[in-house]
Amino acid sequence: MSESEQNDTSNSERNNLETSHLDEEMTQSDLRSDGQLAETEDGASEKDEAELSEKSPTSEAVEPLDPSRHSVTLESAEPSVERSADDSNLEGGEAASTPPVQSNESGILKMKLWMLAHKKASIALICVCAVLVLLLVIAGLFANHVICFHEWEEATCNHPKTCSICGATEGDRLDHDLTPATCTEPQICKRCGVKVGDPAGHSIDEWTVDKEATCSQQGEKHGVCTTCGEVVKEAIPTTSHTEGEWVVEENYTVTSSGVVVPGTRALKCSVCGETIRTEDYTVELTMGQKNALAKAQSYLSVMPFSHSGLVDQLEFEGFSHEDSTFAADNCGADWNEQAALKAESYLSIMSFSRSGLIDQLEFEGFTREQAEYGVSAVGY
Ligand SMILES: [Zn+2]
Ligand SMILES: [Zn+2]
Ligand SMILES: [Zn+2]
Ligand SMILES: [Zn+2]
Repeated sequence: MSESEQNDTSNSERNNLETSHLDEEMTQSDLRSDGQLAETEDGASEKDEAELSEKSPTSEAVEPLDPSRHSVTLESAEPSVERSADDSNLEGGEAASTPPVQSNESGILKMKLWMLAHKKASIALICVCAVLVLLLVIAGLFANHVICFHEWEEATCNHPKTCSICGATEGDRLDHDLTPATCTEPQICKRCGVKVGDPAGHSIDEWTVDKEATCSQQGEKHGVCTTCGEVVKEAIPTTSHTEGEWVVEENYTVTSSGVVVPGTRALKCSVCGETIRTEDYTVELTMGQKNALAKAQSYLSVMPFSHSGLVDQLEFEGFSHEDSTFAADNCGADWNEQAALKAESYLSIMSFSRSGLIDQLEFEGFTREQAEYGVSAVGY
């Protein structure tokens, strides 16, 4: 059925409208027979159909039916007999037989449209979900700095170009921008102020000595720097000492048994007198010294002796004057004590006046002081 035919006569239009109305009723009954569409109402189905018609190109086939709906509803009160009579007059059996076929086709179409719409809605929902998931993934990547619109901080001497958000770096750190070293300052970075190396130091070609150095005192000198013109004063280090004589600081001792215990001696500077170095002071005893010492010990164990008396006795025994003196010097005797012992031994033999006893002790070789100490010790 085409639009031109509908416009030919009002009767045919009416017939068509009637047919559409029947279509509508049939469709509804068809749809109601289908469980899925049982609840569909006129208004709702109109709305759905209108929506579907807009969405789908296939709905064009159904469009001609749309305008009939409202008019059909309005004219539904007219007697159907009158209309069917008119219908039979105009188009006969052909018009009467078409509606059922059309309503079936229309129902299938609507079903298809509904299913298509349903399918489209599902696809749209899936698409929305996919977009949401994609957005979440992108947000997550941003949060973890996998994706970062870097905010770069410029490179310095210590750090390369660095992102303040994610810490990513680019390139290398900058080299120091160094000024040349001066006499007193090392190389300095103009950017970060770090000092590199040592100062170049003044360069002085000619020194003037203000004060000579000695072995005990530093000297002084000055010169003008050829680079910066500064007058530089410098100390002249002390000179080395001049070796003089060895001075015994602590004499060696010889025990009564003839063992030498070393002392110390120092090498003195002949200019300033300062000690240059010290060392042990010791001697190796000669055979004569060792034996003279042993003999002295043996005599002292029997009777008291003065220093000279012991030397005389050892010389009498045949020892040299040097060995005898060495033995008397190192025998360890206390000569005051020896004088006291000698005074006591004289008094045990005979009586003596104080002066007589002192004279006798001096005769034995004791000094006046030793003799007086001796007589005092025994009671005078
Ligand atoms: Zn970044
Ligand atoms: Zn720097
Ligand atoms: Zn200088
Ligand atoms: Zn000196």
